[in-house]
Amino acid sequence: MPRADWEVVIGLEIHVQLLTQSKIFSGASTRFGADPNTQACAIDLGLPGVLPVVNEEVYKRAVTFGLGVGANINTRSVFDRKNYFYPDLPKGYQITQLSDPIVEGGEVEIPLADATKIIRITRAHLEEDAGKSLHEDFHGQTGIDLNRAGTPLLEIVSEPDMRSSAEAVAYAKYIHQLVTYLKVSDGEMSQGSLRCDANVSIRQFGDNELGTRTETKNVNSFRFLERAIEYEIERQIGVLESGGTVNQQTLLFDPDRGETRPMRSKETSRDYRYFPEPDLLPVEIDQAFIEAIRQNMPELAPQKARRFAEEYQLSDEDARSLSADSHLADYYEKVVGVGKDSKLAANWVRVELLGQLNRKNIDISETPVDAKELGYLIARIKDGSISGKIAKTVFEALWEGEAESAESFIEANGLVQVSDSSELQPLIDSIIQNNPKQVEQFKAGKTKLMDFFVGQVMKETQGKANPKQVNELLNKKLG
Ligand code: ADP
Ligand code: MG
Repeated sequence: MPRADWEVVIGLEIHVQLLTQSKIFSGASTRFGADPNTQACAIDLGLPGVLPVVNEEVYKRAVTFGLGVGANINTRSVFDRKNYFYPDLPKGYQITQLSDPIVEGGEVEIPLADATKIIRITRAHLEEDAGKSLHEDFHGQTGIDLNRAGTPLLEIVSEPDMRSSAEAVAYAKYIHQLVTYLKVSDGEMSQGSLRCDANVSIRQFGDNELGTRTETKNVNSFRFLERAIEYEIERQIGVLESGGTVNQQTLLFDPDRGETRPMRSKETSRDYRYFPEPDLLPVEIDQAFIEAIRQNMPELAPQKARRFAEEYQLSDEDARSLSADSHLADYYEKVVGVGKDSKLAANWVRVELLGQLNRKNIDISETPVDAKELGYLIARIKDGSISGKIAKTVFEALWEGEAESAESFIEANGLVQVSDSSELQPLIDSIIQNNPKQVEQFKAGKTKLMDFFVGQVMKETQGKANPKQVNELLNKKLG
């Protein structure tokens, strides 16, 4: 049976690390990159005699997310114990939320190639992260780093609404954009701040029931997500078409081999013997808490794109691209604030700045060219004191760290454009005098030669003459 006969069904569980200074139930730091086992305290390890206390920041972030997807915020939520054994979980249980999560319902509208699609959110609940098993550098043994233990996570569960790997990736990217915009998470995927579990099944078109799914755990890049889902779709089609049945399983994606492989057979919630966490009271929040957060909700990407298009007169594409990342959007607005030309600013940010950042694989938050400096350059292009070409030279110098500021570099290198006609006039006169043959041909109708004359002036002034002015003066002289 060809692939076109199978309908793909995908639901994602996305674990987002919440942007807080300290852990979900303790004061230990959440900073990334510390030496192993220096950031887990007695509470994170569940040593006897200590009690967890809920970090209020965690609740603020979760409510912010809930409001961002139009969900219900439960004013009463309950923590539960999920019991299992794993070397990176010395407590023997994870504190999570089962039947009374903080966030329920809601939806997002994701952009696809030529349409948008609504994906429903089932729920989002709070939980603690576990530690990490380290297999490298331990010569056949396994090291355990418990720094992550107790790190606050929000697990965002979608309905099985996606129908292709492309839709799943678009949804995951949308959630990533949303949580970074809302400052709910730093979204650093390379540091494990956003991980996806992909639930995939297939069924015949027209079937009402869902097929048996597999769950591929802990996929930490969009590219791997797409590849893991594609691999899984083909594998399941292969199994069903050769008369087999898909086993409900938990899988791991191996990026080196580009394939999924079984981790364990799927457990059910019964296996975990959930019960309400006896060391924590149910958390009650009031409407005032929710309203205070609602008042401070930042503008989200789609709204920002609309505002950019209107306020700055940008094309839809420019507006969307510049608002895709909240840091980039902030940068752009700073450039406009100083440069006062929104279209020129859009061009420079998209072509020069993003071009360089992409080539060098640098994030906007680490750009060597300050928004104020780029704004200054744009203001100088606009008032005619430097040409676009010179501006590129200055930008280059700023990028390479060879210039203190755009202003001082322009000054020190005498780059200010010559648009003073008393300076240009004698130069033009002498060029006309020294090129009688070209003047004759120009007057005989070979108007293409204008470029030659402009080029001569530029050569003499090392590119600093204002081209518009040169054209005018030459036309007056030769015309
Ligand atoms: P669990 O917590 O055991 O993983 P849930 O029922 O909470 O299971 O579902 C988890 C995720 O799996 C959700 O995102 C849901 O949309 C998705 N899902 C459930 N059934 C299927 C299915 N048959 N095919 C694809 N995705 C599914
Ligand atoms: Mg699951």
